[in-house]
Amino acid sequence: MYDVIIIGGGPAGLTAALYALRAEKSVVVIEKLGLGGQIALSGEVENFPGTMKMSGAEFAENLAAQVDALGGRIEYEEVVEIIDGNPKTVVTDLDRYEGRSVIIATGVKNRRLGAEGEDELIGKGISFCAVCDGSFYKNRIVAVIGGGNTAVEDAIYLSDIAQKVYLIHRRNEFRAENRLVRALKSKSNIELVLETTVEKFVAEEGLKSINLVNVNTGEKRTIDVDGAFVAVGQIPQCEIFRDIITLNEGGYVAADENCRTNLEGVFVAGDCRNKTVRQLTTAVGDGSVAALAAIDYLGG
Ligand SMILES: Cc1cc2nc3c(=O)[nH]c(=O)nc-3n(C[C@H](O)[C@H](O)[C@H](O)COP(=O)(O)OP(=O)(O)OC[C@H]3O[C@@H](n4cnc5c(N)ncnc54)[C@H](O)[C@@H]3O)c2cc1C
Repeated sequence: MYDVIIIGGGPAGLTAALYALRAEKSVVVIEKLGLGGQIALSGEVENFPGTMKMSGAEFAENLAAQVDALGGRIEYEEVVEIIDGNPKTVVTDLDRYEGRSVIIATGVKNRRLGAEGEDELIGKGISFCAVCDGSFYKNRIVAVIGGGNTAVEDAIYLSDIAQKVYLIHRRNEFRAENRLVRALKSKSNIELVLETTVEKFVAEEGLKSINLVNVNTGEKRTIDVDGAFVAVGQIPQCEIFRDIITLNEGGYVAADENCRTNLEGVFVAGDCRNKTVRQLTTAVGDGSVAALAAIDYLGG
């Protein structure tokens, strides 16, 4: 029996483990893939306070080492269910764990386009986060792919940094709010490439160009770019909890400001929770808040 069972070994889950272990709680982190979560895919992180530059993998390794040094147990299994009760039971594909409290930190998956070359270039020219990686492209040429609020906001944000921004969208109208579309159209260095999809990301020591195809005419075009930002949505990894945990419309776990869910003793941290900013800083912030809330719950 554990004091705290943490589901997900990304920045939020590992930070929660760190805080709970430092409070002398027994902890198990259950991770289905590799430690570090999404940040492990990032080539360079420059927006984490107190560090000029580090790779995402380095950040993940350091955080995992801190958890390990405090005696945290890590199991590589996939959680499939939480059963409420006293204690709570977390069921994985291989085992069952009993805990007095549970922290959900399962993060999100960025929706991919499925275009050729995409998987290989993630973190090497293809990014999902303009705020994180935009500054790498000062005075260079970038493309944003998508048509919703995030894509339009990303294009506007990048237009102040990059020399030129292509905004590639498969329809001829944006789903983004009108005010954003107006702001977009006022930017002279953004070229709209509408009714167009990405066929292939071409690599040459990083991203070199993108092969595009017009959805109506089939006409092909290649644009040379230094970076591409895919903004076609995120998928929260929370569906398995739907039966007992309240999710919001988008499928994210609903929680209060102390990361408490509707179920007593179950907390949530990081990108999988309802909030507007999904970054490394907010993930580790949530991890600490959720762990302290769990510690308070255990004490009570
Ligand atoms: C390529 C890339 C670059 C980025 N660069 C930056 C950056 O420079 N700066 C910045 O601030 N942010 C950056 N981000 C965003 C940042 O990585 C995320 O905000 C952060 O990782 C969120 O942490 P998290 O722990 O909430 O979730 P995640 O990192 O998504 O971790 C969740 C973990 O839970 C595991 N998991 C999910 N479901 C289960 C299950 N059922 N059972 C067991 N384990 C499960 C997953 O395998 C994963 O390891 C980047 C993201 C990407 C993809």
